Amino acid sequence: MKPKHVPAAAGAPDPYFPTSGDHRYRVHRYELALDYQPGPNRLAGSARLSAVADAALAEFALDLAEFRISRVLVDGRAARYTHRGGKLRIRPAKALAPGAAFTVEVHYTGNPRPVRSPWGGLGWEELTEGALVASQPVGAPSWFPCNDRPADKATYQIAITTASPFTVVASGRLLTRTTKASSTTWVYEQSAPTPTYLVTVSIGHYRPVPLAVRPAVPQTGYVPERLTAAFARDFARQPEMAAYFGEVFGPYPFGEYAVVVADEELDVPVEAQGVATFGTNHLGGGWERERLIAHELAHQWFGNSVTIADWRHIWLNEGFAKYAEWLWSEHAGGPGAAVHAAAAHRLLAGLPQDLRLGDPSRKLMFDDRLYQRGGLVVHALRRVLGDDAFFAMLRDWTSANRHGVVSTDDLRAHAARYTTAPLGPLFEAWLERPELPPLPD
Ligand SMILES: [Zn+2]
Repeated sequence: MKPKHVPAAAGAPDPYFPTSGDHRYRVHRYELALDYQPGPNRLAGSARLSAVADAALAEFALDLAEFRISRVLVDGRAARYTHRGGKLRIRPAKALAPGAAFTVEVHYTGNPRPVRSPWGGLGWEELTEGALVASQPVGAPSWFPCNDRPADKATYQIAITTASPFTVVASGRLLTRTTKASSTTWVYEQSAPTPTYLVTVSIGHYRPVPLAVRPAVPQTGYVPERLTAAFARDFARQPEMAAYFGEVFGPYPFGEYAVVVADEELDVPVEAQGVATFGTNHLGGGWERERLIAHELAHQWFGNSVTIADWRHIWLNEGFAKYAEWLWSEHAGGPGAAVHAAAAHRLLAGLPQDLRLGDPSRKLMFDDRLYQRGGLVVHALRRVLGDDAFFAMLRDWTSANRHGVVSTDDLRAHAARYTTAPLGPLFEAWLERPELPPLPD
């Protein structure tokens, strides 16, 4: 039997990013030990990957941007390699047998910079004071060698050494913080399976702001000192939001939730495993900002715990996160989800209808219409199933696929179990055809 987290689609290149990743092996753990100097923006260190070969491998590839590589070891032995076009191709001294467990160690140095993409720079980004990482979808190779495909989830240990005045926030739980001379090493452990694009680090001058007293899950802001009061005010309802999402989506899937407010303006906040990164422009309150707090928090269930098998299924992340905004509005005494859905429907009715939600194309995968229409499908499902069945369906979806990998077909099969009504026509109209269907009564 196949392990549960490997869907049938795992054994093929990603249709939108066919050069990313190598589907012939799986990584189950990354250990990164990195030294970062913010001034010269210099990153140096090593990555140790523990992996399993799914086929006989005389060579295999990792994704890694332009760094100088000093050594590559496979199972502790020096391996031959080439490195160009973002691919590190490794030829072990001895070919790997199918099913073989192996380790790869890469030692590298360089000046990390974002990977260019149609959506701007992705991955490691130098800030005026420090750095942050926002990799979705293919920015992870900007800072560590990886098998860059969302279906290949792994655990992580991330050790970052940098000048002592800086605070380092990374995915996971802080294990140790050790200061020697003028530098400090921060070691984080992420024990939940995590896709490469959701691994993050933030380095900056941050003050921790705990958000709740004795919360079920610690929620902490990491905020520039002058903004701590604004943050405490604007994020005051996040613990209540987390409690509500815990009821409707099931228990929070990770051990902590950190919110970093980087000391810069950012286009949009970004989700990472157990972390969300906001910009200074996202403080200030009001519904347009509050909905982003709900959206990023909801990604911890939709996208981060329940992860898409490949990028064609991106609506499963964004549609549910959008719907979470509407649910929160309804719960918090604002306009109900039906009001938000009607507004989204009117908005989409006036826009070009050339987006197929279930396979939107790489070009349109972050189009705002995908978010709106994604929220609408979820609302249409709620209408057809009724509230009791709909919310049971939601909770069961996140619990059955907790820390797993899913596709649109998985959701269709799952939802069908909660009604005797045929859902085929609804899914086909909303997911497969570009025209906007009417909202069900
Ligand atoms: Zn989102």
